[in-house]
Amino acid sequence: MKIAFIGLGNMGAPMAANLARAGHDVTGFDRAEVSVEGVTMAASGAAAADGADVVITMLPNGQILRAVADEIVPAMQSGAVLVDCSTVDVDSARAVAQQAVDAGLLAVDAPVSGGIGGASAGTLTFMAGGSDASFAKAAPLFDIMGQKAVHCGASGAGQAAKICNNMILGVTMIATCEAFALADKLGLDRQKMFDVVSTSSGYSWTMNAYCPAPGVGPQSPADNDYQPGFAAELMLKDLRLSQQAADSADADTPMGQAATALYEQFVEQENGLGRDFSAMLPRFEKRGRG
Ligand code: NAD
Repeated sequence: MKIAFIGLGNMGAPMAANLARAGHDVTGFDRAEVSVEGVTMAASGAAAADGADVVITMLPNGQILRAVADEIVPAMQSGAVLVDCSTVDVDSARAVAQQAVDAGLLAVDAPVSGGIGGASAGTLTFMAGGSDASFAKAAPLFDIMGQKAVHCGASGAGQAAKICNNMILGVTMIATCEAFALADKLGLDRQKMFDVVSTSSGYSWTMNAYCPAPGVGPQSPADNDYQPGFAAELMLKDLRLSQQAADSADADTPMGQAATALYEQFVEQENGLGRDFSAMLPRFEKRGRG
C-alpha cells in the first residue's frame, strides 16, 4: 500500500519504520526535520497525502490534528482512509472524521496504548472508531504496528475507550500509591503489602504489573529511579481529556476529577515533569495529612 505518515515523533517514527520494513511504500512528513529508516520525506503534509491509499497521523493534540486535516483532506484521493493514531479529544476526533467522510474518504480514530516500547516492537494496542469499511481497510496496518486492534464503534469510540481506560489507570495508580504510603506509616512491610494485595480484591494492573514501590513486584520504572515509562505529564494530558469529555457529555467523574487535580499539582508544582506517573508514591511518602 502507498502510505503517508504525518507526525514522526517518539511514537510516529518507529511506527512508520515498521510499516516500511513490512514492505509498504511510506512517505512521511513532520514539521521538524527528521529522518526515518525506509521512509521517503515529503515537503508538506499535502504532498505526502497526495495519491496515498492510507494517511496516518500521529500528532500532539486535537488542535494540531484539525489544522493538519484541513491541509491534507483536500489532497487525499477519493476512497482513501485517514487513520488518526494521536490521543486527542473526542470532539476533534469526530469533527475530523466527519470532514473526511464529507470529502468522500474513510476515517478511523485509532489511539494506541503501549508507549514508545510498543511502537518500536510493533506491539501496540489500537482502539478504533469508525465504519466497518474504514476499520477493515486499516486493520492490516494495525497488525503490523501492533498486536491487537479493537473496533470499539463509530467515530470517536476509539478515543472514548482510550480516555476511559486511562482515567481508570490514573485513579488506580493514585489509590495504589496512597495505600502504600499509608501501609508505611502503619509499619507494614511493602513486600507483605504486595503479597497480600496482589492476590486479594485490591489487586490491579498498577499493583500487579507496574508496582510503584521499588524492589517489589515485577521490574517497573520504580526500579529505575522513576524514569518513564509513562511520564506523569502524559498521564495528565489523558486525564484532562477525560474531564473535557466528561464536561461535554455531562458525566459525573469525581475520582477522575481528583486524579486530574493531583497529577496537575504533581507535574506543575512538585517537579513531577519527566518522572514516571508511579512517582506519586515518593510524593505521598513525604506528606502528612495537613
Ligand atoms: P511527539 O511530540 O514526540 O511527536 C509529535 C510529532 O508531531 C513531532 O515530531 C512534531 O514535530 C510533529 N508535529 C507537530 N505538529 C505538526 C504539524 N502541524 N505537521 C506535521 N508534524 C507535526 O509525541 P509522541 O510521544 O510521538 O506522541 C504522539 C501522540 O501519541 C500524542 O497524541 C500522544 O498523546 C500519543 N501517545 C503517546 C504515547 C507515548 O508514550 N509517547 C503513548 C500513547 C499515545
